[in-house]
Amino acid sequence: MKIERAEVIVTSPGRNFVTLRLTTSDGVVGLGDGTLNGRELAVVSYLRDHVVPLLVGREADTIEDTWQYLYRGPYWRRGPVTMAAIAAVDMALWDILGKRTGVPVYQLLGGRSRRGALAYGHASGTTVEALFTAIRNQLDHGFRAVRIQVGVPGLGKVYGVGTDQRAGERYDYEPAARSVVPVEEAWDTEAYLRHLPTVVEAVRAEFGEALPLLHDAHHRLTPNEGAQLGRALEPHRLFWLEDCTPAEDQEALRRVRSQTTTPLATGEVLNSVHDYRTLISERLIDYVRSSATHAGGITGLRKILDFAAVYGVRSGIHGATDISPVGMAAALHLDIALHNFGIQELMLHNERTLEVFRTSYTFVDGLLDPGENPGLGVELDDEAAAAYEYTPAYLPVNRLLDGTIHDW
Ligand SMILES: [Mg+2]
Repeated sequence: MKIERAEVIVTSPGRNFVTLRLTTSDGVVGLGDGTLNGRELAVVSYLRDHVVPLLVGREADTIEDTWQYLYRGPYWRRGPVTMAAIAAVDMALWDILGKRTGVPVYQLLGGRSRRGALAYGHASGTTVEALFTAIRNQLDHGFRAVRIQVGVPGLGKVYGVGTDQRAGERYDYEPAARSVVPVEEAWDTEAYLRHLPTVVEAVRAEFGEALPLLHDAHHRLTPNEGAQLGRALEPHRLFWLEDCTPAEDQEALRRVRSQTTTPLATGEVLNSVHDYRTLISERLIDYVRSSATHAGGITGLRKILDFAAVYGVRSGIHGATDISPVGMAAALHLDIALHNFGIQELMLHNERTLEVFRTSYTFVDGLLDPGENPGLGVELDDEAAAAYEYTPAYLPVNRLLDGTIHDW
């Protein structure tokens, strides 16, 4: 059974998504997510110009060989554009194999290891009171674990903090602004370090000790600042502190790790097992944050997570809305199958996105499940997709108060 057709589909139902659709000679269709937030069209070109011509006529069931062909075959390896393109192909091939064999992809990965995948939602507020409302809303929505982000006194808009919610409102913060250039935000690390521990303490006092709480520092701290923050948060027992230092500097986390027992997560910008070699083999992190979408698909992410399993490091797969429902489904099949699952991020897609992508995964009592449909379990509605044209959208850029460009 050969790949007969490969189409790259771009749709923007509130957020840009890049989808690869492969069709085999006997009419089986597979979908893959190649969305790279803010650089979507680079992946479109990589796929259309350099990958699609290689795919047509290849065997559809040689998933590992195709992955290696696209990874090792070209001179240039790794990098987010390459690995997102490989991810799109890989997911589509797993989808096809599942549909051909009549089973959900998690069965092909070894079968079910758990009843459901614990998900964490996002809660944010410009003030502590607004954050409390947002946390209550997420608990009412069924989440059993919550990431908390809060405004910093003296700063304006802070990344990760959406518009304050009213009671009962659904969290629909969209961090990428639709514009041809990114917006700019101000950042003050000292103000943040003074404020955040007081907020986490207040959240613990209000919501108790048992609720898993997560926080994302968005790569903005030095190793010493990360160590300070980790220590300050130790009494409040975070589930994890995410991305305290820039992720590409693996050795930076040695300093943080040696100074604090607060669990650490990183890696949503990392895309190959080599990016994790030090982080995992030295046990500098507790959770791997890569997505299947940005790390070479199910095959690529499984290589990372199998390596992590040897060292007792668990998964915390990236699941913001820049992961399409296809990429989310791919993550969920891994979550259910792999032994070293930790937690799954879940930002719910808006209704327009779910018109374009018909999903079969479920979220019940705080747990995600990929469902029992053969393959990944997501279908694309062409007509709905065509109604939403690509629109440039970017995450913000940070400057320190003196104007210096700062890390994410
Ligand atoms: Mg993050």
